[in-house]
Amino acid sequence: MSFLKNVIQNKCPNCGKGKVFKTNGNPFLFQMPEMHPECSECGHKFVKEPGYFFGAMYVSYGLAVAEMVATFFISRLFVTSLVHSLLFIVAAAFLLCTINFRYSRLLWIYMFDSKAKAKAN
Ligand SMILES: [Zn+2]
Repeated sequence: MSFLKNVIQNKCPNCGKGKVFKTNGNPFLFQMPEMHPECSECGHKFVKEPGYFFGAMYVSYGLAVAEMVATFFISRLFVTSLVHSLLFIVAAAFLLCTINFRYSRLLWIYMFDSKAKAKAN
C-alpha cells in the first residue's frame, strides 16, 4: 500500500521523500504540472531519456476513460438528457486533465522504474 500512498502523495519512487512534481497545474489558467528533473533528496532522475513519458499517455487515456464512464453513470442519476450527460463528461474531463497528467506520469514512473520496483520487492 506504500506504493499507492507514495503515488498519491507525489513522492520519489526511489527514496519516498522528495517530490516528483513542482506544481500541481491549473486547468483554468491552462497551466500543466511541472516536474522536477531529479529528486531533491536522493538525486534520482525522473526523466530517463527523451520521450520517456510517451507511454504515460496510455495510462492517462485509461484514467480519462474510467473518469468519463464514472461521470456518465453519476450524471445519469441527476439528469435525464444524454446531451446534458455529455456536458458533464466534457466538464469532468477538463477539470481532471491536470490530475490525469500528474497521476499518469507518477504511475508510469512507479511501473517502469527498476530501482523503485526492486526496492518494493
Ligand atoms: Zn528521491
